[in-house]
Amino acid sequence: MIIHRPVCTDTAHLIREIVSAVGARLMPVDLSDPEVIGRLITARARIVYLDTPTNPLNNILDIAAIAERAHAHGLMVAVDSTFATPALQRPLEHGADIVLHSLSKYINGHGDTVGGALLGKAAVIRQLREEAFRHRHETAISPQASFLILRGLNTLALRMDQHCNAAHALALTLEAHPYVAWVRYPFLDSHPDHEIARRQMSGGSGMLAFGLHKGAEGATAMTRRLRLIKSGGNLAEIGSFICGSARLTHARHLSLAGSEFCASLGEDFIRCSVGLEDAEDLVEDLLVALDFA
Ligand SMILES: *Cc1c(COP(=O)(O)O)cnc(C)c1O
Repeated sequence: MIIHRPVCTDTAHLIREIVSAVGARLMPVDLSDPEVIGRLITARARIVYLDTPTNPLNNILDIAAIAERAHAHGLMVAVDSTFATPALQRPLEHGADIVLHSLSKYINGHGDTVGGALLGKAAVIRQLREEAFRHRHETAISPQASFLILRGLNTLALRMDQHCNAAHALALTLEAHPYVAWVRYPFLDSHPDHEIARRQMSGGSGMLAFGLHKGAEGATAMTRRLRLIKSGGNLAEIGSFICGSARLTHARHLSLAGSEFCASLGEDFIRCSVGLEDAEDLVEDLLVALDFA
């Protein structure tokens, strides 16, 4: 399994615990250069796995370019598209063979249940199901969770529009602020892969990554002053949440297995999951909180 590093912490944990237990070898690589696939390929290679956008750094990978290289060598491509959702990005249209979504995030969107989905050709999904049964990792989503997820799905497109608009407004506000050292949002022109983002996504989604010149200390001072944006690691919910690298790194230490597949975060790192509040209110909240000097 050729796997783009970093993947989300939960995925890193699963990969270590389950994938290696069934005898797969894992090869962490940087797929921002898709040519790496041709250079690293071995006779045992079967699949290329990636998240795009990545959690929490908002890196963007070129699905079409990766799929082209992978297919030329007879490999399948699996893409975790959780951060974008099908409203903003449809990896199958760019050549991916399997798409993964956490239903716990934007697709349900209300932060009140958990679930996941795999999409792809019927024959591939059938094979994966049979394999899961063989290894006793099959699970069923409860009727209540199914009800909540389907209810959320009805408003996915509307919610993603609002998440995107508010997050983009906040990203521009942050980028123009003298206390802000850096901002990573896929639809900012300053994002190194914003051209790829604009080609394969119809919006930048609701996740922001940024850092202040005053680092972790500044982040704590700012977070204390926020009124509307809440402090917490929650992600893709109705409300906006913010957390620093200490919190994300702590979560990772609780599941050390697989941490070599996670992103290394600077001390100044801040992640904000932008919710569905009024965009002007969010900008105001952030500007007041940033005025801590
Ligand atoms: C949160 C997340 C997951 C895991 O989803 P759960 O439903 O919490 O298991 C997987 N991939 C990405 C990109 C995520 O952000």
